[in-house]
Amino acid sequence: MEVVIVSSEVAPFSKTGGLGDVTAALSSALHRAGHRVMTVSPRYGVTPLDGLKDSGHVARAYLGTSEQTAKLLVHTAKGPTHVLVEHPMFADRAGIYGDQNGSFGDNHIRFALLQRAGLEAARRIPVGRKTLGESPIFHVHDWQTASLPVYLDQVYRPLGFFRDSPVVLTLHNPAHQGRLPAKMFDDLDLPQRWFSPHGLEWHGDLALLKCGVLRADQLTTVSPTFAWEITTAAGGFGLDVLFRGRFAELTGILNGIDTTEWDPTSDPHLDAPFSAGDPTGKATCKAGLQAELGLPMEKSRPLVGSVGRIDPQKGTELLIDSIPWLVDQGAQVVVLGSAHAAHQKLEWRLREMEDAYPDRVRAWIGFDERIAHRIEAAADIFAMPSLFEPCGLNQMYSMRYGAVPVVRATGGLADSVQDGVTGFSFVEPTGFAFRGALHRALKQFAADGLAAMRAEGMSRDFGWDAVVPEYEAVYAAAVEGRARLLRA
Ligand code: ADP
Repeated sequence: MEVVIVSSEVAPFSKTGGLGDVTAALSSALHRAGHRVMTVSPRYGVTPLDGLKDSGHVARAYLGTSEQTAKLLVHTAKGPTHVLVEHPMFADRAGIYGDQNGSFGDNHIRFALLQRAGLEAARRIPVGRKTLGESPIFHVHDWQTASLPVYLDQVYRPLGFFRDSPVVLTLHNPAHQGRLPAKMFDDLDLPQRWFSPHGLEWHGDLALLKCGVLRADQLTTVSPTFAWEITTAAGGFGLDVLFRGRFAELTGILNGIDTTEWDPTSDPHLDAPFSAGDPTGKATCKAGLQAELGLPMEKSRPLVGSVGRIDPQKGTELLIDSIPWLVDQGAQVVVLGSAHAAHQKLEWRLREMEDAYPDRVRAWIGFDERIAHRIEAAADIFAMPSLFEPCGLNQMYSMRYGAVPVVRATGGLADSVQDGVTGFSFVEPTGFAFRGALHRALKQFAADGLAAMRAEGMSRDFGWDAVVPEYEAVYAAAVEGRARLLRA
C-alpha cells in the first residue's frame, strides 16, 4: 500500500504528546511491513534541523489575505520518507500550537497550509526512487488535518488527481475540535458552499474536526473502549450523534509503543539496566532518581510517579487532592508535567505540595524526556487517574518499566491495564475511588514489593508490529469504500 500520513506532529521533528509518538511509530512500522510511506508535518522552530534538505519543490496556497509558499524539505534517513513543510508561520514561532498567551490565532491558516502541502508532497516527492502512484491513502490526524477531504475534492480531484484516494481520519483527542468563529472560514479560500452541514459548518461555527468525521472514508480512534465511549452522550464531546452515524466505519485500535526507545535493558537515561528476568537494576534507578531530586534515598518507601500533561483531562486534580493521603500512607510522590496557560493553577498547586512535603514530594514542571524515562524506571507505582483517555501511552511505558499502573478504567487505560493482574483500576472519577485503588497497590507493595505484578506487566508486548495488520484492514476498507462511492 501507499500511505501518506499528514499530521501536525511527527516525532522527533515535533511532539507535544501521544500524537507525535504515534505518527512516528506507525509510519516506521508500516515501512517495516513493506508499505511505501510518507509523512508530512511542519518544520517548527523546535524541529531539529539535522538531516533536512530542500527537495526543490514547494506548495502554494492562497490563504488569509495572500498567497503562501511553503518549501518542502525532506529528511534524509532510512525508513519512511519524512517531508517537513517550511514556512515562517511554523518556523518563526516559539510554540507548536501556541505560546504563553494561548493558542495562535491563525492555527486554521497554518494547518490549512499543512494540508495543502501534504497533497502537493504526495504528488511531487519521491518515496524511495519514485513518486507515489495515482491513489495513495491519506491518513490524517485530529482537527489540524481533518479537512483534507475538502481540499482533495475542491483542489485536486477536479484536476484529475487522487480520484480513487481514500482518507482515513484518526481521532487521538476529539476534545479538541478546531471549532472556531464562522468568519475564519473566509481565510481558507474555499467556495461558500463548503460552509455547510456537509462540510465545515457546525451549529454556525467553523468546525474542522467535524468536517473530517463526516467526510473521511474510515475513522479510527486509539482504543476499542474509547471508540465506544465517543458514541455516547457522556463521552462524545458533542459529536456523539455523528460518531453513532458512522459507527460502521469507526474502528478502535490500541496504540503501540516504541519498544526501542522505551527499553529498560538499554535505555541510556537510566542508571542501570533491568529486565523482567533480572529486575535488580530497578532499585539502582530508584536510588538514582531520589538522589537527583534530593529526596531521601529510602529503598522501602513506595515511590509513586506521574508523567503527563497537567490538565483536567489527566485527572491532575484527583492526583493533587490525593497527595497528602499518599504522604500519610508513607509514599514518595514524583510528578513531571507541564500545563497549558489555561491550567497554570494546577502547576502552582503541585508546587505548593512540594513546599508542604519537601522530603516526600517533587513536582518537576516542564517537558523533559530524560526525566520521564527516569521516573518510569524508578517508580514502584504509576498514577494515571485520567477522566478520559483515548489511549494513553504512559501506562504502557510504566508496565514495561516495572512501575505498576493505577489507572481509571476508561478508554485505552481500560484496554491495556488488567485490574489485579498488571495494575489496579477504578471506575468512579472520585478521590475516594482513586485512593481505593492506590490503597490496593500500596498493600501489594508492602506484601511483595509488587514483584509478581511487575513481572506480569513487563512480560506484555505493546509493540507496533502487532498493530499494523489492524491499520492495514482499515486502509483496505477505506479503498473499498471509496471505490463503492465512485461506482454509486
Ligand atoms: P497525551 O497524548 O494525551 O498527552 P499520552 O499518554 O498518549 O498523552 O502521551 C503523552 C506522551 O508525552 C508520552 O510519551 C509522555 O511520556 C510524554 N509527555 C507528556 N508530558 C511530558 C513531560 N512533561 N515531559 C516529558 N514527556 C512528557
